[in-house]
Amino acid sequence: MTPRQPQKLVICGHGMVAQRLLEQLADLPDHGFDPIVVLSGEPAPAYNRILLSSVLAGEAPADSLALQSADWFERHRIRCRQGDPVVGIDRQRRQVVTASGHEESYDRLVLATGSRPASLGLPGEDLSGVMGFRDLRDTERLIRISQRNRRAVVIGGGFLGLEAAEGLRRRGMAVTLLHRASHLLNRQLDAVGGELLARALTERGLTIRTATKPVALLGNRRVRAVQLDDDTLVSTDLVVVAAGITPNAELARDAGLACGRAIRVDDRLRTSDPAIFALGECCQIGEHTFGLVEPGYQQADVLARVLTGDHHQHRFQATQVATGLKISGIPIFSCGQTEADGDTESLVWQDHDSNRYCRFLIRNNRLTGAVLFGETRDGPWYAERIRQGDDIAAFRANLAFGRAYCEAAA
Ligand SMILES: Cc1cc2nc3c(=O)[nH]c(=O)nc-3n(C[C@H](O)[C@H](O)[C@H](O)COP(=O)(O)OP(=O)(O)OC[C@H]3O[C@@H](n4cnc5c(N)ncnc54)[C@H](O)[C@@H]3O)c2cc1C
Repeated sequence: MTPRQPQKLVICGHGMVAQRLLEQLADLPDHGFDPIVVLSGEPAPAYNRILLSSVLAGEAPADSLALQSADWFERHRIRCRQGDPVVGIDRQRRQVVTASGHEESYDRLVLATGSRPASLGLPGEDLSGVMGFRDLRDTERLIRISQRNRRAVVIGGGFLGLEAAEGLRRRGMAVTLLHRASHLLNRQLDAVGGELLARALTERGLTIRTATKPVALLGNRRVRAVQLDDDTLVSTDLVVVAAGITPNAELARDAGLACGRAIRVDDRLRTSDPAIFALGECCQIGEHTFGLVEPGYQQADVLARVLTGDHHQHRFQATQVATGLKISGIPIFSCGQTEADGDTESLVWQDHDSNRYCRFLIRNNRLTGAVLFGETRDGPWYAERIRQGDDIAAFRANLAFGRAYCEAAA
């Protein structure tokens, strides 16, 4: 048998999901790609983006984020080109071009460009001192600003906004957090849980304003204040916008690939061009986009097999993914459905003494969602029940007391 001709794989974007794909390929003997070229918009190879919150809070040093050492890339014959984003794809010639004019041809192209902070669409958003919290450069800049300035406003009371606000507070800033909904983490917590969280954060010194909307960011060159919908002005030296994400799909859209909100792929991560694939936060499957790292990892596992011509028809299947708030001392865990619908029962338990709270969503005696506040050790066990779709009738009355009680009752 004649050996297969090696093919050239180009990966555009070097974030957490692209790195997972590289590691999966490296684990497959004879993957058939040589060379593999990674073109990164950031100045450093892939790092643990999730830990940026801990870096901002001063709990982890920036140099602890690296996912692989330089020699790992050399050993696996992976060429990385950093700080030079791809600006165009020529599908006819199977070539990409970078901002510096560098051209790279490909046999297979993978788009892993992630996403960016969503814009608020407000006047003043282009003022200096208004920024997102997405990468290492943002984090380093936030730390520098916190050393020279006193006041910050964070817009968005989801996980990212809360972590940004707490990180800046720990850096010594007086932080006001603005959130549009009536309570914090409104997609994960009900009003009681949101109130508990707000109280815990207020006790630490954060100023929290819910049910409020910024209508303009004010200043000449630098931002000086945020104007709210009730005409209040909140003075500030810094505004961090953490109100959702926008997938980086422009490259694909400009190249004529099918796109919706993100780059459209099927469950084998194939775009509308058979030579081009996409995964992670820049892709969408059906109408579903992704904002957590775990589905991206699962997609990378599938794509590694698709690219190497598996005959097992590996396909990506969305599963319920767990997530948590990374603020030390305020443990929160969330998995699965977060908002009750017509068929869902909501089971809530709260202990004022120990400041514990949990909320479960249940459909037909199956757990569909769980939020834990104050004590999260059993989170992965609840997540497993959600994924397995187990019948919980035998231990439903014990559900709030944790795994040990449920297992004893089952
Ligand atoms: C502070 C913070 C905390 C988070 N915490 C959690 C958490 O606790 N749990 C969780 O599940 N998720 C968390 N996330 C989300 C998680 O980081 C993302 O889901 C994950 O990084 C997505 O990986 P990705 O590879 O798709 O995109 P990214 O990691 O964003 O990587 C995309 C890369 O592509 C680059 N790029 C973009 N355009 C181009 C171009 N044209 N050319 C070349 N390169 C390009 C980008 O600069 C970036 O380096 C957090 C995110 C942030 C910012």
